[in-house]
Amino acid sequence: MTAEKAPAPSANHCSKNLREWLTHLAATDRLAVAKPGVGLVHELAAVSDQLELDKAVLFPKPDGHEIPVAANLLASRKWIGDCLGVSEDDLIARYQDAVRNPLPWVEVEDAPVQAVVHTDVDINGQLPVPTHNELDSGPYIAAGLMISRNPKNGIQNVSIHRCQISGKDRIGVLLLPRHTWTYSQMAEEAGQALEVAIVIGVDPASLLASQAIVPMDFDEMEIVGALHGAPVEMVKCKTNNVRVPAHAEIVLEGRVLPGVAEPEGPFGEFPQYYGRRANRHVIQVDTITHREGAIFHTIVGGGMEHLLLGGLPREATILESLQRHDPAVLDVHLSRGGICRYHLVVKIDKKQEGQAKNIMMGAFAAHYDIKQVVVVDKDVNIHDGEAVEWAIATRFQADQDLLVVNNTQASKLDPTTTDGGVGAKMGLDATIPLAADDFTFTVIKVPGAGDVDLDAVLDDASAATAIIANE
Ligand code: MN
Repeated sequence: MTAEKAPAPSANHCSKNLREWLTHLAATDRLAVAKPGVGLVHELAAVSDQLELDKAVLFPKPDGHEIPVAANLLASRKWIGDCLGVSEDDLIARYQDAVRNPLPWVEVEDAPVQAVVHTDVDINGQLPVPTHNELDSGPYIAAGLMISRNPKNGIQNVSIHRCQISGKDRIGVLLLPRHTWTYSQMAEEAGQALEVAIVIGVDPASLLASQAIVPMDFDEMEIVGALHGAPVEMVKCKTNNVRVPAHAEIVLEGRVLPGVAEPEGPFGEFPQYYGRRANRHVIQVDTITHREGAIFHTIVGGGMEHLLLGGLPREATILESLQRHDPAVLDVHLSRGGICRYHLVVKIDKKQEGQAKNIMMGAFAAHYDIKQVVVVDKDVNIHDGEAVEWAIATRFQADQDLLVVNNTQASKLDPTTTDGGVGAKMGLDATIPLAADDFTFTVIKVPGAGDVDLDAVLDDASAATAIIANE
């Protein structure tokens, strides 16, 4: 709706920082402003939740705090396209191109993000950290880019992790078994803390890049540079060696402590359930830096922004990985009902029997979150859940076309997996058999339907009275 008001995207304009994107949203009537003083506990999240498909929102003086909060930066795929400067249809291709052609960042000396420096850290005193869902353990930094460095080679990783405020200078963090977790294991084996920074208040391209499914030691900030069309300016942290975006709003500098585990959770997550409380990694925060007049960004756990940010980068990078193995793969979609993580639909131009099952196995291997893969022919609209269900209803037989793999690594946040994150994968081959005769799968069609000029054909509706009366 309001997205229609956005001006036509230009091929080279991508918002390069949070303020540029907020300015663009305001200019296109997509930024609401709350009255000052909205409460940080639940109230701010409730307002954001109610506006999430319609408007971004700024909260001045939340609970009286000097720093305002921004939420709902992305409401739809159309907004993401607008932010990256492409149409919705070109989104996946643009993102794939950025992953294929990463642009290294440059280091600068002076950075707006270091204008104010707090060495006497008091996170909840210095930052307006909201509490989102009902059973969340308390305030969480939910939209912080966590930047860490491989302790062996210094290559940086960018990802997002939920960060519970556990004390004045202490954060409980969930590290799932991917890159930050691996770096922290490497540091721990060497008996060292892992240097990290949590960066709050960045542009949507940076948030999207952080969700790319790329190999370890692929610095996601280089994807940001490619999306921006210019190298990102990074600055060295004040108290460690991590480099952070110079034009971000807020940075927390710290260390993942080796051999320390403390309770973290519950926290409302993307599957629409809570991640449970357990002993997790701990970050000691050494310094907070921020811009003059900084803006804090939050993402409501499980909300649309959370799902969109997870979905699109995953689609683009999973497509890339599947196409590398089989050029018959045309497109992929992570459905909304599958919370943009678990259920994948793959469109193929089938050439070989058995091909669909190989593609399923490639998808299961591309990311452990993927739980169900439906493979369909190229005539099926994979963004339409009913069309995908029709393909399953009419092109799939469970005794022939179903693949189940048990005891695989799965999402720890899926409540049906066991505690170690073990679950099953399911693949459905809903493609037409190549041996089928031409007639059996000919889709019905009314000649001319859709092309009729209704104004030329239809009479005034009042003519109905005479026809009905004259039986
Ligand atoms: Mn990574």
